[in-house]
Parts: sequence; C-alpha cells; structure tokens
Amino acid sequence: MSESRELRPHPPFGHLPAEGGAALEEGGAAAEVDWSRIRGDFPLLAREVHGKPLVYFDSANTGQKPAAVIAAVDDFYRRHNANVSRAVHQLGSEATEAYEGSRAKLARFINVRVDDLVLTSGTTFAINLVAYSWALPRLKAGDAILITRMEHHANIVPWQLVAQRTGARIEVVELLPDGSLDLDMLRAKMTGDVKLLALAHVSNVLGTVNPVADICREARRRGIVTVVDGSQALPHRPVDIAAIGCDFYALTGHKMCAPTGTGALWARREHLEAMPPFIGGGEMIKEVRLDGTVFNDPPRKFEAGTPNISGFVGLGAAVDYLSALGMARIEAREQALLAHLDEEFAKVDGLRVFGHAPGKAAVVSFAIDGVHSHDLATLLDLEGMAVRSGQHCAHPLLEWLGVSATCRASLAFYNTHGEIEAFMAALHKVRKLLA
Ligand code: PLP
Repeated sequence: MSESRELRPHPPFGHLPAEGGAALEEGGAAAEVDWSRIRGDFPLLAREVHGKPLVYFDSANTGQKPAAVIAAVDDFYRRHNANVSRAVHQLGSEATEAYEGSRAKLARFINVRVDDLVLTSGTTFAINLVAYSWALPRLKAGDAILITRMEHHANIVPWQLVAQRTGARIEVVELLPDGSLDLDMLRAKMTGDVKLLALAHVSNVLGTVNPVADICREARRRGIVTVVDGSQALPHRPVDIAAIGCDFYALTGHKMCAPTGTGALWARREHLEAMPPFIGGGEMIKEVRLDGTVFNDPPRKFEAGTPNISGFVGLGAAVDYLSALGMARIEAREQALLAHLDEEFAKVDGLRVFGHAPGKAAVVSFAIDGVHSHDLATLLDLEGMAVRSGQHCAHPLLEWLGVSATCRASLAFYNTHGEIEAFMAALHKVRKLLA
C-alpha cells in the first residue's frame, strides 16, 4: 500500500512528538508525524479478514485501540487491580490514583475543571443523566426541547421520554441541502418556550461540524440550556469546552482510542449542584442512615457503584496517546485523507455522497445507484474492507435523505492513503460483481 502523498523524514524523537513542541512550530500541523508508522501502533490493524489485509473504515462506529491503551489495561489487571475510593491498602490507593488520574487527564484534554467532570459509561448514559436529572424535574407542559434533524438516537430518544413525562414538546431544526444546520431556522426556533437545545457537535452520518460555540452563545443569551453531543468531535479535532460555552457536553471514550464503556458528562457547576442524583448506591454518598442519605459532592454524586476502572485507566492512556500526536495534527491528517477519498468517490459513476457541508469531518456516507448498501458492505467485507451500512442510529436523518440505508466510510488518523487506494480497488471489483 502506498503512502506517497506524505513521505516525510522521521522526527528526531520518534513518531509521537510532544504537542506544541518546536517541531510543531517550525513545520505546522501534520508535518512532523510519520503517519505511515502510526498504523503500526494499532495491533488489530495488522490482521487479515477473509484472507485479505484489513482496511478499517468504521471508526465513527467504534475506534481501534493503540498498543499503549491495551498495555495500560493489561498492566492494571496484572499489577494494580483493586476497587477505587474504598480500600486503604496499597492496591486500593494505586487503583484510585490511576482512575482519578484519568479523570484529570481528560479534564485537561477538554479544558474543564476536573470536579465538574462526571465519568459515565459513554455518551448515551451522559445524555440520559441530563434528561433525568436536569430536564425531568424542570420541564412542564408548554415548554419546548429543541433538537436537530441530524441527531443520533442517543440525542433524540431521551428527550422524547422527557417530553412524554412532562408534557413538553419537541421542536426540530432542519438541514440545508448540503447537510449543514439551517441556522436561520435555528434562530427562529429559539423562542421563549424553549428551555433546552440538544445538538451534535459533529454528525455521525454527514460529518457536518456544527458551529457550537456561536450556537451556544446565542442560546445562552436567550436563557436556553445547551447540551452538546461530542461523540464524533473529540476523537477528531481539538475540543475546548470552556471556549464552546455550553451547559452540558457529553462524550464517549470508545471512539477516541479508549475502551468501550467509558465516557463523561461535563456540566456547569451550578447544574451539577442543583441536579438530584440519577442512580443511587455506594460511592455517591457521604452518609447513609436508614431514614435518609447525605449525597456526595459532584461529580461523585452521579457515580454510584463500582465504575469501569480498567476502562478509565485505558482512557487515560488514550488521552496521553492522542495528546502526544496532537489533535490539530490529527484533524489535518484526517482532512487530507478525506480529500483523497472525496476525489476518488467523485470519479465513480452513480455514487452519491450524503453531506457536503464546508469543513466537514472525515465521515462519508454514500450510496451507489441500484445497489443495496447491505449488499455492498457485505461484499466489501469479503475484500477485507470494514464499512458500516444501515441507518447509523439516525432514522430521522435517513428519512430526510430519502434513503432506507447508506454505506458509511468513516476515517481516522491511523488510516492511510494506501488503504484508500485498496478500498477503491475493492469497490470497483464489488461493483462489477453486483452489476
Ligand atoms: N452520539 C453520536 C453522534 C454517536 O455517533 C454515538 C455513537 O455511535 C452516540 C451518541 C452514542 O454513544 P455511546 O456509544 O457512547 O453511547
């Protein structure tokens, strides 16, 4: 597989330069990393599928894990395994230190205070926490919840459940033909009865990157609380939550090189203080008497039970790994891969790409005239190509696109230009078979 577009000399200190180091200042984004070597950091990518080298273009679904993350989880179980925040013994202290260390790393990574970061099993749990603890006690008939057409089901269904139980209604902001959000409609729909706006930072189907900082500023001016679903943003671009200025930001670990079952909810302190706990149990309390309980301070007030300790140890290692590469460089790398894929797709007769918003992320949903997406994905799999087909947990968006399913090639920095060439060769072969 060729990597001709970016053969550059190796950096003096290996392929993971320190972020913001001298090499970055001299060379600019993406110039210092030997991207062709990065793929080798991911052991799984060395395997074959159906006797063919694996090309993994399904990172929007879940991301692959670098050896450093796998090693961190392995090391935790081999040397440090104990429960957190409970035991006074040495292992207990080590486990707690590792777990809390990961919270601190994640907080630095997204520029928030560590005490305002609730660790969760992922985005779905994080959004449900806002729905049940913030929205349910506050909303009432006559109130509105604003969402957008491009949301993942995780950012639709919890609001429908809240609406059913409170009598609030759901309003939807539609999209422009290129897949960007209709910002005029959004402004027009930010009326006095809207109490909450929930939207994706980056669409998992169209790749659209929403101007969340501008949107949240406008919402705040109008007294509307904002929930940003950052699932598809954090793995691919620098995210500074303080600069976005939202009220809640939900994120997931498994798409950003970390183990499954990890994620977080960041919230403004005043919300965390005011919200009741969502789940009760151990760890989220200061004192329990049979006639009542004093809850712990946030964020622990929302973290009942034994958490996914090893998963969060892995998340800390993932943050280290991504930080060493540099998120700005990762973004530039993925944009270069996207430009290559777009260029190749444009040459294919009858291939339609869904989503052309300016500055979109490297998520490319597509369909080929006369070919069912599942058939295409199944035959591509036989060639070693992993893409997702279906509705991508976004039924309302697919309805708007007017298709029952799409194929989705979602790229990550560990993909290569050579893989795109191999993918295109497989696509042409499969298409001939289906003709
Ligand atoms: N939101 C978006 C935009 C997603 O792409 C996903 C995952 O596919 C989710 C939410 C759900 O995240 P999790 O798997 O962490 O629950």
